[in-house]
Amino acid sequence: MTDDDGLDVTVRHVQPYQAIKAYRCPGCDHEIPPGVGHKVVVPLHAPDLRRHWHTPCWESELRRHGRSGSPTATKRAPKGPKGPKHRRRPKPD
Ligand SMILES: [Zn+2]
Repeated sequence: MTDDDGLDVTVRHVQPYQAIKAYRCPGCDHEIPPGVGHKVVVPLHAPDLRRHWHTPCWESELRRHGRSGSPTATKRAPKGPKGPKHRRRPKPD
């Protein structure tokens, strides 16, 4: 199994006045009662499988997937002996 890098979803915010039904949040398996603002998450490839999430549950889900900001590999300057020191050659006289 491969981990999905990105979540191909559309997220809509539902205002409290728009929430007229109770839903079950897949994040915590608790109910989202009517009148509570929350998120509707619609998979791009399966719009029928949309889910209603508590806003904080969805946000922690996003964090779990590490959506924003994969740590960029810091380029390390190669450490090593610096170039040969410039030596003064004694001038032959
Ligand atoms: Zn929840």
